[in-house]
Amino acid sequence: MINITVVGTGYVGLVTGACLADFGNRVVCVDNDRKKLDRLGQGEIPFYEPGLKELVAMNRERGRLSFTSDLASAVKDCEVVFIAVGTPPDEDGHADLRYVREVAAAIAEHMDGYTIVVTKSTVPTGTGSVISSIIRERRPEAQFDVVSNPEFLREGSAIGDFMRPDRVVIGASTERAMDMMEKIYRPLYLLRTPIVRTTVTNAEMIKYASNAFLAMKISYINEIANLCDAVGADVNVIARAMGLDGRISSKFLHAGPGYGGSCFPKDTLALMHIAEKAGYEFRILKAVVEVNRRQQMRMVEKIRQLSGDLKGKSIAILGVTFKPNTDDVREAPSLTIIPELQKHGAKIRAHDPIVAALPGISGVTWCNDAYHAAEGADCLVLLTEWNEYRNLEFERLKGLMRRLVIVDCRNVYDPREIRSFGFAYSGVGRSFEATAPWALQEVVVHDGDVVDMGLQHGARS
Ligand code: NAD
Repeated sequence: MINITVVGTGYVGLVTGACLADFGNRVVCVDNDRKKLDRLGQGEIPFYEPGLKELVAMNRERGRLSFTSDLASAVKDCEVVFIAVGTPPDEDGHADLRYVREVAAAIAEHMDGYTIVVTKSTVPTGTGSVISSIIRERRPEAQFDVVSNPEFLREGSAIGDFMRPDRVVIGASTERAMDMMEKIYRPLYLLRTPIVRTTVTNAEMIKYASNAFLAMKISYINEIANLCDAVGADVNVIARAMGLDGRISSKFLHAGPGYGGSCFPKDTLALMHIAEKAGYEFRILKAVVEVNRRQQMRMVEKIRQLSGDLKGKSIAILGVTFKPNTDDVREAPSLTIIPELQKHGAKIRAHDPIVAALPGISGVTWCNDAYHAAEGADCLVLLTEWNEYRNLEFERLKGLMRRLVIVDCRNVYDPREIRSFGFAYSGVGRSFEATAPWALQEVVVHDGDVVDMGLQHGARS
């Protein structure tokens, strides 16, 4: 059992804390947000993440997990401190390291004996050295190591991702620190999880390089989708066939309204700044970011194309979080698309299974469910592919809407089925004519294997 402190109880910190406690360690989670701590103290989880409430409760009951605002005593008694505070973009898009620096300084004040300071937060290359300098300046005699252990979990499947990761990346500069980190992750050895042992700078870069690559895949398939719209092809079929190539893989090949969330938008910008600082022009990345901005606006254009002048029109929006199974709306496409529709004079009725308010956006009528949102609507827009929107009763919608228009920003519906109810339909990259009976075929027999070509899950970021 290792004594661990996790600073920051957000999506990453709380999941890390709960999972490391579940691995059998004694974990103290620290936050400076009193309200959050009060809720955690009452057994509540301050955000939506499937399975987390149960995992936290179980490990608290077994005495392995606790919460405090007292960083001093938590750090004093532990061998390893994980920093999992936010690294949001500043106004220029650089990763704002203010919280990381603050925490590093506080750790320096209170650490007692050899301590390993681990960055779980996504931080630019060189941050490990910055943390070392902060600690060394305050405590020249301190015995410590700084380790980079970036996190790759996805909100909505965070516990599974942490417990069964594709790989664990550990950047360290001493055997002592590396050995301790490997001990922490030993429970994953049973699963044969690859452990990448590397330098701190490499580990910091691996995280940005991975996220930027995934963002690039999304922007790439969105470009293909736009081209499919222009030439009359179906991006769903194309993406699925591309994904069958093991070199490409089917993940993150889902056309949609552009990536959002708390990671891809900020990490792509931060990597661009890292490159700029290093005197390197990262051209692909610039295009990835630009394509993503344009993609969100294309959704508005699609709605306008099918609905005409938006002045006074009622638009029903289904889903506002950046992806399903999270309450996170940071950088969600809804934050750009809804105000843009409002600017054109549209009235917005919205529903989301978890969220009923958006920061900085007013004038939205929040509804109880998809059907309530559709009442009197001139257009229904699927923006986030929550499961409950996958099997809508189109006959019922028909009776509720003023005009029968559906814009499917996640390509989850079958255009043929929707049109058969009399709706005008637009997906993303699906402006094609069914010129052959198998054009929309859902199953393809390939070398004796049946490959499901059915409706796809939306882009995850
Ligand atoms: P978050 O905003 O949900 O949580 C950050 C927490 O840190 C908050 O609870 C805040 O109160 C706390 N905090 C800030 N300053 C503090 C201080 N001085 N002392 C104690 N607590 C403090 O952030 P998040 O989404 O968990 O992201 C954390 C980091 O992990 C970021 O660098 C992010 O890029 C990275 N990351 C996030 C995800 C994700 O899906 N959210 C995935 C992988 C990596």
